[in-house]
Formats: sequence, C-alpha cells, structure tokens
Amino acid sequence: MKTYDVIIVGAGPAGIFAALELVQSSGALRTTLIEKGKDIDQRTCPLKVKNISCTTCSECDLLSGWGGAGAFSDGKLSLSSNVGGFLTRYTNKETVQTLINYVDNMYVKYGAPKTVFGNNPEAISKLEKIASKNGLVLVPSQIRHIGTDRCGHLLKRIKKDINNKVETLFQCEVDSIIIERGQYKGIKMKNGNELFSRFLILAPGREGSRWLEEEAKKLGLTLLNNPVDIGVRVEVPASVLEPLTCVTYEPKLIFYSKRFDDKVRTFCVNPYGEVVKEYLKGIWTVNGHSYADRKTNNTNLALLVSTYFTEPFDEPISYGRYIAQLANFLGKGVIVQRLGDLMNGRRSTQSRIAKGIVQPTLKDATPGDLSFVIPYRYLYDIMEMLEALDRIAPGVNSRHTLLYGVEVKFYSMRLKLTDNLETEIDNVFAVGDGPGVSRGLIQSSVSGVIAAREILKRL
Ligand SMILES: Cc1cc2nc3c(=O)[nH]c(=O)nc-3n(C[C@H](O)[C@H](O)[C@H](O)COP(=O)(O)OP(=O)(O)OC[C@H]3O[C@@H](n4cnc5c(N)ncnc54)[C@H](O)[C@@H]3O)c2cc1C
Repeated sequence: MKTYDVIIVGAGPAGIFAALELVQSSGALRTTLIEKGKDIDQRTCPLKVKNISCTTCSECDLLSGWGGAGAFSDGKLSLSSNVGGFLTRYTNKETVQTLINYVDNMYVKYGAPKTVFGNNPEAISKLEKIASKNGLVLVPSQIRHIGTDRCGHLLKRIKKDINNKVETLFQCEVDSIIIERGQYKGIKMKNGNELFSRFLILAPGREGSRWLEEEAKKLGLTLLNNPVDIGVRVEVPASVLEPLTCVTYEPKLIFYSKRFDDKVRTFCVNPYGEVVKEYLKGIWTVNGHSYADRKTNNTNLALLVSTYFTEPFDEPISYGRYIAQLANFLGKGVIVQRLGDLMNGRRSTQSRIAKGIVQPTLKDATPGDLSFVIPYRYLYDIMEMLEALDRIAPGVNSRHTLLYGVEVKFYSMRLKLTDNLETEIDNVFAVGDGPGVSRGLIQSSVSGVIAAREILKRL
C-alpha cells in the first residue's frame, strides 16, 4: 500500500505552489502530485501545428498538464487582492496581499520580468476620476506580465527545483476520493491504483471542476452557487485604448447597466494582442492573448455580464454552455460582427469586415450576427457598457469595433470551505479555480500556499 504525507491533485498554479511551499518548508515530506495531463515539454495542441479544426483530444493539452491552464496563458499576474479571485472571503485583505507579494516574488525568482505596470498613483487617480464621472468604477490593479511565450520556461524552472522532492505522476487521472467512516483515507485513480495519505489538496482547476462537483455531491459536501459570466470579446485599434492601457496595463472597469442594473466588467485586456479560440469540452468560446515579444495593431478585451441565478435554477454552467453552443451552431465556431452591423440590425459578411478599420486577429471567426445568439438583456448591457467606455476612450463604440462571441467564464459551483480552504472533510483541502476560490494565476497560486501552510502546521 503506497502512502504519502500529502497528495495533490492537479499540476496547475494552485497545485504547483502548494507543492513548492511544502518542499521549501519541509524537505522530508512524502508528497505526490497527480496530473491527468502531460509534462510541459509534451504539451502540444494539434491546432498549433496544422491549420485544422479541433480534433477533440481526450485531454486538452492547452488546459491540462504541468502548469495547468496557466501554461499557455497570457501570464498576466494581477497583484491586487480584489482581482482574480475570492480569497478575501476566507482571509483578511492584508493577509491576502502579503501572500500575493510572497507568491509574486517567487514568480520573479523563476523568471517573471521585473517590470510592474499600473504603479503610477497620480495617473491612476486621474483615470479613476474620469471613469467615475462616466458611470464606471476603475479597480486599480498592478500587473506583472510574463507573456504567453515565457510561461513555459518559467514552469520548467519550477519543475526542475521540485523534481527530486515531489513525486509527479503524469497522465494519471484521479477518479474518486476514498472516505472511510467519515475520515479521509486516499484517492483512487482511473487506472484502478489507490494511493493513501494524511492530507489531500484538490486543485483540479476549471478543467476538473465538474469532476470535483460530482465528487462533492457524492460525499455530501455543501455546494454554493457562483455566477456565470457571459459576454463578447471586443477588438479595437490599440491606439483607441491607449489612454487606459498606458496608465494601467489591464484596466479593470465595472459598470452597472441602466436598464437592467446588471454588473458588466472588462476582463483580460490584451494590448497589442490577438483574439484566440478556446475549446471547452465540446464548445468553442473566445479568449485573448498578448505576447511579450510579438505585437499586433489591435487591443482586445472581454466585456462580461455577471448573473447570479436564483432558485430553483442551479445550472449556471449548462446555461453558459448553451449560449456558446448557439454561436457554434450558427457560425460553426466563433462568430465575429462589426458593431456597426449589429446596431444596424444586419449580419457582418467577409466583405463588410474587409472594409473595416479593424482587421480581425482571429482569422477563422465566422462573420455573422450575434443578436441571434446572445440574449437581449446581455446584448443591451454590453451596448450600454460600450457607450460608457467610449466616453473615457473615444473610438471604442465605433461602427468598426469588432465583437466576437461568445466569451463565457464558468465559475461552476463554490465549495464550502474554512478560512484555511479545508473542506467539510478533515484534512481534505480544495484550492484554485476548481472549487471557485480563484480565477487567476496569482490567487490560485496563493490558495495553494494557504493550504500547504495549514498542513505544515498540523504536521
Ligand atoms: C487562455 C487562458 C488565458 C489565461 N490568462 C490568464 C492571465 O493572463 N492571467 C491570469 O491571472 N489568469 C489567466 N488565466 C486563468 C489561469 O490560467 C487560471 O486561473 C489558473 O490556471 C487556475 O489555476 P488552477 O491551478 O486552479 O487550475 P488549472 O490551471 O486549471 O490546473 C488544474 C490542473 O488539474 C488537472 N486535473 C483536473 N482534474 C484532474 C483529475 N481528476 N486528476 C488529475 N488531474 C486533474 C488539470 O489537467 C489541470 O492541469 C487564463 C486561462 C486561460 C485558459
């Protein structure tokens, strides 16, 4: 019978930083990190090699493997406690900020650039005032930008450091958690092997959130609803958003729509970046990247409307998937539309897009009509937000602006956890995006550190 001190499920930032914390503080621990994807060098997406449509690999190399969803991400580290997750629900703001600084230093140690964007208080305060005059709230956030192209190297350096101290099992999927008489014992893998340990850290990310939800239901754990965020990715000439992106690399702006009083927010701004497709278990959604060494003429950002559904409805993920599927159904993938066409009640076509000032960086999006896909309420909210944004960055609400749909962010369920991120089962912790604790690289990493430190205390 194989026994460990700690088993960690998932080698995304949450699992990796939990492992790092454990090995740094106590070299003698028997720790294993179990990952259903591949090691970083073996992660390749067929789409990147050949211009083909998604072959729906059994495990998506873009989301699974060493580094998790973060490996090919844009690597924007949000250094403020009010961005990228919900850790302040569990721990006070000061502690979260101290932990963010700690984790950020580790990222720098492993190769993140030293430059931090958005640390000019005078310019930020000026922008905050302009935003508030126009009905927008600016959430100041400092950003360190690793860049998609550098993330892999950083992850390899971390791996090298913990290689001999943590046993890492790749292409091993955890099937279930073994509980006996209410006590945690170990895990069972899909290949039938069982491993036992004193502590378990569950860090399966968004990729594994459905699995985690099913396990939680089987074990009778309390689940709380999270919102679903639905919206579009907006692409404009980079110069249009420069008044914002020069001051704060990632302008986080919140707007409450006039008609519906819905929360609309900017998300994942990519100055000089490109729009990309994302394959989420059977559906194509849209996302964005920017590279440290490669620039386009455009800037893209998501506009997302957050909805908390009320009882009896409790399937926000299915709802979000349904809307994204509609876009796939009508456009055979992601749909792109000029804002002017949307406002004039007509679809975009290749020739209309070709005439526009903004040329799409996502070349295989289908010109179409998003009003057939996105519910009226969301579309109305997004149009109001574009008008508000236009007042602080003129040109955003131009007829040439491109809208890609659909961008959906699933935060699935939220697991009931203690302040130390322990589940209702003693010695079983849940961290990162999977249990709804975080939604970004930094807070997921911090959550791993929180669980690891609690375990070290108990050991
Ligand atoms: C395209 C893209 C761009 C992004 N850009 C940014 C950005 O710029 N800045 C930012 O802060 N955030 C960004 N994010 C979000 C960020 O990547 C995530 O918030 C972060 O990776 C979450 O970390 P995690 O460890 O919780 O989960 P993940 O990174 O998702 O890792 C979870 C791991 O667990 C594994 N796993 C799941 N279930 C099992 C199982 N049953 N058995 C074994 N292994 C399992 C998965 O294969 C995966 O490797 C981006 C995400 C994407 C997809």
